[in-house]
Amino acid sequence: MIDLIYQHMLPYYKDKISKVTISDPTTCTSCERDFSETCEPNHCVEMRDGYGIDQYLCLPCSLLYIGNGELLGTKTKGKVSVFIDKDDKSTLDKIVSDESKTLKEKQALAKRSVKSLTEAQFEKLIPSREVFINVGTSVFVKSSFVNAAKSIVDPKNSDNVKKKLEEMGALISEAEHIKGLSEMSHMEYFISKGGSEELRLGLMAGLGIYADKNKLIMYGTGEHFQNFASRKSFPFELRPIGGNRMIFDALPEFNSAPALFINNMGNSQKNIIKNIQVSEYLDEFNICDSKGTTSINPKAFTLFYEYFSSLNKPLREDFSNAINKILCGFIPVSGMQELLSPFEGSIQLFSELPKDPHEILKIKNIVARALQES
Ligand SMILES: [Zn+2]
Repeated sequence: MIDLIYQHMLPYYKDKISKVTISDPTTCTSCERDFSETCEPNHCVEMRDGYGIDQYLCLPCSLLYIGNGELLGTKTKGKVSVFIDKDDKSTLDKIVSDESKTLKEKQALAKRSVKSLTEAQFEKLIPSREVFINVGTSVFVKSSFVNAAKSIVDPKNSDNVKKKLEEMGALISEAEHIKGLSEMSHMEYFISKGGSEELRLGLMAGLGIYADKNKLIMYGTGEHFQNFASRKSFPFELRPIGGNRMIFDALPEFNSAPALFINNMGNSQKNIIKNIQVSEYLDEFNICDSKGTTSINPKAFTLFYEYFSSLNKPLREDFSNAINKILCGFIPVSGMQELLSPFEGSIQLFSELPKDPHEILKIKNIVARALQES
């Protein structure tokens, strides 16, 4: 269960969890386990959900619900801002400092009084950005190279990434970065700064986690990676890999059972808890996400992946079509050999795959999607 994650994360939640001794009820509202079956059998966390209904969570489940700014970061909430020419700042200062007006009135007045840009227009004017290439290590990158920089992030080889960016002419110094920002003609003007909200593990769509008793690996691309890498000392191994590619990265790690692999945390604690299925044995790897769980045979999956990725793109498509025909039962067994003859080694591959056509089709589809993403 989620206990595998809890055991690694507990040190970073100790001050956040207000646990109470269990009296009544005796079942976790989220995972529906009896508290006595969890790794913390004597305690639970009481919470009230968005509908005002009391929740009694086992301690492992509570991690998905509790905000943790130090570990996961924060997001702003209720911010109201406009993107304006710096020359219009004093006009807005007057409007915003008028305490007789409500926030809504100030917002409406600001819109009428000055010409503002959309957020997207403003973003385009920003000359450079800070991009994290490893936990605690960032570089300053010209805006036109930001996406390229994020896509080659590789914490294990961050020196190489830096070198590549240098060769591309993407890097600038921190001083140039600050100078560029200060010289911008436009600015974000906060009518209200709003507040901040601590991020919750169970509400981080796109995030992946692999955990067994010895290790925990976090998977996140783009903003997830940038956010975690900017934490002062992010305690877990962080890999900038997303989607189906995550599965291929996590599989070689799966050498100890039980293990838990979440491919996408999604945006609902209830859904992910419902679909969490621990891999209990090394011959079955469960891929859990907020929509469901898929079980695969690691050996067959790896064999198929190695074969499929060795083909060039047009051959891959032909092979994929041939498999579809075979598995849909349109081709008699005698025709199979002929259909597979252009694909060297494929008959040997088939002999090593599971016999269930659904199983092969499932593996093929996941592999094909992952290769498309890379
Ligand atoms: Zn629970």
